[in-house]
Amino acid sequence: MNFDALFNEQLDALKAEGNYRYFAELERKAGKFPKAGRHTKDGVSDVTVWCSNDYLGMGQHPKVIEAMCEAVRRTGTGSGGTRNISGTNHDHLLLERELAGLHGKEAALLFTSGYVSNWAALSCLGARLKDCIILSDSGNHASMIEGIRHSRAHKVIWKHNDVADLEAKLKALPANAPKIVAFESVYSMDGDIAPIKAIVDVAEKYGAMTYLDEVHAVGMYGAHGGGVSERDGVADRITLIEGTLGKAFGVVGGYITGSGALCDFIRSFASGFIFTTALPPAVAAAARTSIAHLKVSEIERAQQRRQVARLRAALDRAGIPHMKNDSHIVPVLIKDPVKTRMLADYLMREWGIYVQPINYPTVPKGTERLRFTPSPLHTDADIDHLVAALTSLWKQCAIAHAVA
Ligand SMILES: *Cc1c(COP(=O)(O)O)cnc(C)c1O
Repeated sequence: MNFDALFNEQLDALKAEGNYRYFAELERKAGKFPKAGRHTKDGVSDVTVWCSNDYLGMGQHPKVIEAMCEAVRRTGTGSGGTRNISGTNHDHLLLERELAGLHGKEAALLFTSGYVSNWAALSCLGARLKDCIILSDSGNHASMIEGIRHSRAHKVIWKHNDVADLEAKLKALPANAPKIVAFESVYSMDGDIAPIKAIVDVAEKYGAMTYLDEVHAVGMYGAHGGGVSERDGVADRITLIEGTLGKAFGVVGGYITGSGALCDFIRSFASGFIFTTALPPAVAAAARTSIAHLKVSEIERAQQRRQVARLRAALDRAGIPHMKNDSHIVPVLIKDPVKTRMLADYLMREWGIYVQPINYPTVPKGTERLRFTPSPLHTDADIDHLVAALTSLWKQCAIAHAVA
């Protein structure tokens, strides 16, 4: 059997519809973010990264770098095992305490990524709680969807951010079945924010537990970077808060926080927690330093808000439509995968601007977009450069100014 022919058949279909993914080969440079080198067959060129999830540039913060280097010298490179078999290091526990504190919870549990934390926690809860029903927001991330699917629990999808629909669906379910309402705070592709308090009100009314993915909000929202649930004063009412160490905290890893019993339950039964090598202690040390810094430092968040507002205002002045939202994410809808790729290629080639085209299945077909994430380290000149580039493109391509 010619397996490569089978693979290529599907890859060719992807290419024909414009959804084939090309990765940019970047070389990040500590101290230079958002600038990076870009490797191609013609050599290395400088680009400004406009689509990083290292939202605050913490991946190059001197304190975070030093914490990782210090821990590598102190503990070596790897953790030495799964958490159960010799892999639990002191640095992991210090980090879990820091995370529990960040969200005001009794306990926290680390995973190798945010994806794994969602997958493992939802799989475990849905599979182990007898007759469990999971009510999932229709905009939820793939990691939650896959976790719910794997759990084989009964799943009910409610309309994105629609509390009335959630309530109607909760009401129709058996009163005594355990229910989990699973949703996110900041949805990263549209940049819209969930009405968390209203969702919690409804969930509590029907005795459901709440599962909140704060991946795109931790470090950035709330007085201590505890996310939108901290900002809105409702963290103590959320049963489980999940987050990543790989985005605003600038390192890698994922976690859940909640009651001691909840975390002990996942620790004891979740295969995605148990059967994998623990994160390197140096990763834990770096993440803890980043979290501790952002708990007390407001400079990064304030400067990010300033640059986000500045980009939006400049786009408005230039007549470039972008999706309105209350977050740090600035999506510009193009609504066609081929055009989106063409624009991104042109920005990279002619202007040294790197923004990854966002296409299916990350977003629904027909809503392809460029998604800009201004950081505190993008200068006013970077923003002017980006808007000048987009303005010239808009003129050249005669894209309708009212696409959004
Ligand atoms: C990125 C992302 C995750 C996964 O986090 P990683 O640490 O990158 O694995 C989970 N949920 C959402 C909403 C995300 O965007």
